[in-house]
Amino acid sequence: MSAQLSRDDWKGRIGGLSYRNQAFIGGKFTASLTGKTFDCVNPATGQVLTKVAACEQADVDAAVKAARAAFEKGTWANMAPAQRKRIMLKLADLMMKNREELALLETLDMGKPIAFSTTVDVPGSANTVQWFGEAIDKIYDEVAPTPGNVIAMITREAAGVVACVVPWNFPLLMACWKISPALAAGNSVILKPAEQSPLTALRLAELAAEAGIPEGVFNVLPGFGETAGQALGRHMDVDVLAFTGSTEVGKYFLRYSGESNMKQVWLECGGKSPNIVLADAPNLDVAARRTAFGIWFNQGEVCTAGSRLIVEDKIKDEFLAKVMAIGQKMMPGDPLDPKTQMGAMVDETQTKRVMGYIDAGQKEGAKLAMGGKQVHIDNAGSFIEPTVFDNVDNRMKIAQEEIFGPVLSVIPVKDAEQALTVANDTIYGLASAIFTSDINKAFKFSKALRSGSVWVNTYDGGDITTPFGGYKQSGNGRDKSLHAFDKFTQMKTTWIQLG
Ligand code: NAD
Repeated sequence: MSAQLSRDDWKGRIGGLSYRNQAFIGGKFTASLTGKTFDCVNPATGQVLTKVAACEQADVDAAVKAARAAFEKGTWANMAPAQRKRIMLKLADLMMKNREELALLETLDMGKPIAFSTTVDVPGSANTVQWFGEAIDKIYDEVAPTPGNVIAMITREAAGVVACVVPWNFPLLMACWKISPALAAGNSVILKPAEQSPLTALRLAELAAEAGIPEGVFNVLPGFGETAGQALGRHMDVDVLAFTGSTEVGKYFLRYSGESNMKQVWLECGGKSPNIVLADAPNLDVAARRTAFGIWFNQGEVCTAGSRLIVEDKIKDEFLAKVMAIGQKMMPGDPLDPKTQMGAMVDETQTKRVMGYIDAGQKEGAKLAMGGKQVHIDNAGSFIEPTVFDNVDNRMKIAQEEIFGPVLSVIPVKDAEQALTVANDTIYGLASAIFTSDINKAFKFSKALRSGSVWVNTYDGGDITTPFGGYKQSGNGRDKSLHAFDKFTQMKTTWIQLG
């Protein structure tokens, strides 16, 4: 079991890795057509792991052509769902068989602790592939209640060529949330991983081919957003663009679509999630643990990070002391050490961005109560301490903008009513949480909070069976659950007039 491997064991395995670093188009690995590459860097050491194909317009054209040809050929799209299921289950199985390799690639590529890539990212990704694979031969279409001389069928069909553009914070998991329902529904898929974290997506392509996904059905194009991402967004022969990433880039995709073929655009974007702790919370120790995990898990690089702690004045000091005591035990460490709870920030750019917000918080007059410093481990890497700002005003930058780092903004409020107003005072609406032992407040808040997920007495609850997505500028559409199929299928009405 991975959990038993030591830091030295993991380090010892690095030399044995072989990095897939070319694009995967039409069932084959291939260099980018321009020959351009970019450095794939381990953020914990600054070392270049490999040089990866930097795909651009011509590569996108080739991938879309391969995907369209595969879709038209119909080997995958017209395959019996039960057979597609078997292939997807095989892929899930191969992912679990290669769990340690995938976890190591993920940790080296983006800096997250190996403790989580082995237990959260890879098993969660394989489970996603498995769940959508299992679903497809259990979904039935509909027949409408029409007059007796008519049969009207409401059927769902694969949308066609689907492009998925994903971020770096959970590279494999975010990819699998998109590609699993898209493939299961019979589409041809082009996945563009973030330039910071292409390695697991490329290995996934190889495993998919080994599982039996026909050539051209699953393609992976590493490359930059402005080039490969934009070319996918503007392509005239892409039917659906499913995106996870920042709100800023999500808006670009809406523009790309409007200026090209009006492809469907589905957006899972940023967040600034409120985590409300009322004085009647059932157990402050439990609430503190969940609050700490809610902000510092994955270095705070989580779209649903509970980055605004809205807490009733009368318990604030007691509660904050508990949260900070947990934070003190989560200081960043070598991501390959299985004891490490917080790893490296994904790259220097992100580190500078987060440090810029820490600076802004101090300048705006919030009280830096904990952390706030950049840390170097073994003289390398970009690590940031778990950080807490107290006495934050909700109008401050650190309360309104997504930091995407380990920075908690604590906003004291006088009562539950003010907590609700402050919670909804944001452009985002991805998630929110409320800790209370009053069923009336729990219900009132869960109805009134304007976000796609509301957690009561926990943080980050949910599994593959529950939909996930945002209100407001956190996006549209839903990942996970059967609702995810809505993004990747077209609905057709067939009205048959009987003689
Ligand atoms: P990002 O928006 O910078 O990049 C995401 C993807 O878009 C990458 O593949 C990137 O190459 C591509 N891209 C960047 N610029 C582009 C452009 N001009 N045209 C086309 N494509 C472009 O986001 P990120 O920094 O990789 O990830 C962090 C963001 O992702 C945060 O805002 C976070 O909240 C969000 N996120 C949201 C969810 C969710 O489910 N709602 C989940 C994870 C992350």
